[in-house]
Amino acid sequence: MSDIQIEIFPCLSDNYGMLIHDPQSGRTACIDTPDGAEIARQCEQRGWRLTEIWNTHWHPDHTGGNAALAKQYDLTIYGPAYIEGRIPGLQKGLTEGDTFQFGQHDVHIFHTPGHTDEHIIYHVPEANAAFVGDTIFVMGCGKLFEGTPEQMHQSLSKIMALPDETKLYCAHEYTLSNAKFAIHVDPENERLKEAIDAAKAKREAGLPTVPTTVAAERATNPFVTAGNAIELGRRRALKDSF
Ligand code: ZN
Ligand code: FE
Repeated sequence: MSDIQIEIFPCLSDNYGMLIHDPQSGRTACIDTPDGAEIARQCEQRGWRLTEIWNTHWHPDHTGGNAALAKQYDLTIYGPAYIEGRIPGLQKGLTEGDTFQFGQHDVHIFHTPGHTDEHIIYHVPEANAAFVGDTIFVMGCGKLFEGTPEQMHQSLSKIMALPDETKLYCAHEYTLSNAKFAIHVDPENERLKEAIDAAKAKREAGLPTVPTTVAAERATNPFVTAGNAIELGRRRALKDSF
């Protein structure tokens, strides 16, 4: 295992800010920029200098702090290259199959359209972690603002193909609200019932339910257990008016 450190903290109303730090190289990345001031504060507090931003998609609650942080730090902005001009200040455009180095560690990029057309996720195998933005949530998935159920099904399949124990860092705390829908469509799922109880206990203790794991979502997430694009689309439409 590596000595990579990952920190997660609430931002805005229900976003998570995230930092990944490699002590060997001294590099620190934030995943998305929901709140530039809070991200800077979290870095200062730990004595970490922000060296890069890893954006997942263009939505303002994911890129809103890019400009301020780029002004404050000498950093590099990584993000999806699929649609020009979408990511403020983008310097390193990334597409499916790209790999870059974070210190000595590999970072692998997957294109996961569905929520938005250009959405990408970052997999860091040595940290056992994937930063999944608004593609998958605990017991949920991103709304299909730009993509189709087919695309989201494929995107979730890419995430489910990662090793079982991979930690999935979702960008929002939507779990308890997702849980109501999940148990509605899958009322007999014992693993889901256990996961809901565990999530409730975490939230009551003021703790995040993120990260989840590939194995947990495979067993409980209604958009994964849907099994195919048609059923996913049906469930997504149902949830949008739930
Ligand atoms: Zn979004
Ligand atoms: Fe978001």
